[in-house]
Amino acid sequence: MGYQQSFGSFSLGRLGRRRRHSDMPENASPAPEADTGFGDAARHDLLDQIAAFLLRNHLDITPANLGIAHAVQSGSDLDLAQKIADRQIDGEPITQGWLDEITLKPDPAEAERAAIEKMMDQLEDSITGFAKTTETARSETGACRDEFDQQLSAADPGANGMNPEPFLTISKAMLSTLQRIETSMKHSQAETEKLQTNLAKARSEANCDHLTGLPNRRAFERELYAFHKQALESEEDLFVAICDVDHFKRVNDTFGHDTGDRLLRAIAGILQCFASEDCFVARHGGEEFVILIRAVDQEGAFERLDKARRELEGRKFVDRRQNRPMGKITFSAGLSNVMDTPNPRDALAAADAALYRAKEQGRNQIIAD
Ligand code: GH3
Ligand code: MG
Ligand code: MG
Repeated sequence: MGYQQSFGSFSLGRLGRRRRHSDMPENASPAPEADTGFGDAARHDLLDQIAAFLLRNHLDITPANLGIAHAVQSGSDLDLAQKIADRQIDGEPITQGWLDEITLKPDPAEAERAAIEKMMDQLEDSITGFAKTTETARSETGACRDEFDQQLSAADPGANGMNPEPFLTISKAMLSTLQRIETSMKHSQAETEKLQTNLAKARSEANCDHLTGLPNRRAFERELYAFHKQALESEEDLFVAICDVDHFKRVNDTFGHDTGDRLLRAIAGILQCFASEDCFVARHGGEEFVILIRAVDQEGAFERLDKARRELEGRKFVDRRQNRPMGKITFSAGLSNVMDTPNPRDALAAADAALYRAKEQGRNQIIAD
């Protein structure tokens, strides 16, 4: 049977019968480095099994995949071993995409950002709920007050020979209480609406770069994970590019910081034109921009980015204050496939390394890693 393959110091057949790793035999998982009794034969055996695992599943020999194969074959990560065993039993392939998905560890900054987003979502839900309750209470109080007012006008409390004064006093007091409640409800409602507007504004400002109007690094990080998740689901490729304006310091030094700022806004505008559902552009900081491109292949992503590079290269910027041409303005970029790395952040580092090479090789060019 397919799943009766050797699986480190225990067999996949045994794992397969146990869907819960808590049922594992106690002696099933000695990591070789922890087991001083492991001899050469056992180490050879483990190496063979690691190699077989990678080859059998057509996985690249990368540090991450070697780590996974070791964890699984040595039994040092029973959870992961169980997931792989279950998948094989289900007849599903062990693909790179699936491995990346199950081994992806969100970094602490991402976890913190997600927690804040969640809190903001909850706050928004509470405010929306409160707004609804206030609206209902206000309109019910209003209807009740109208009804009470009408009844009070139509009533003839002296008809049965009773003294009408106490009845009228209490009724008027109730009416004025209802009016006060209604007014304060209206006030609460207006305050809640203001709070909702402010929260939505704060949320959008927190994600926006004020100089260029582009999404900022915070927004980019969120989109990076969202795009990555989508790409894993749809088994598409996803590329990340870091673009850095060439010799930008010279622009500031020659034309002043304000002109530098205006130039950054103009470059942001050019890049923004390339943004679409498949392409997300953000300011990463300083004179650097980051772009996420969903593309069929690297050539497609490269061409899209190069179009933006050519567009900028062809522009003739003039410093309006001194009426002086600013010369050729260009950027260099590094491009990397996010789906080639276990963590999207590694792709960002790879794009940065490629950008460094683009600078070294003369600038005004894109290098794919
Ligand atoms: P390279 O081609 O190697 O990237 O050279 P560079 O001059 O662009 O790079 P460097 O890192 O030496 O300088 C970047 C400059 O960008 C320095 C910094 O003052 C400027 N800068 C960063 N943020 C802003 C900004 O918001 N406005 C302006 N005007 N300048 C900025
Ligand atoms: Mg820079
Ligand atoms: Mg630069």
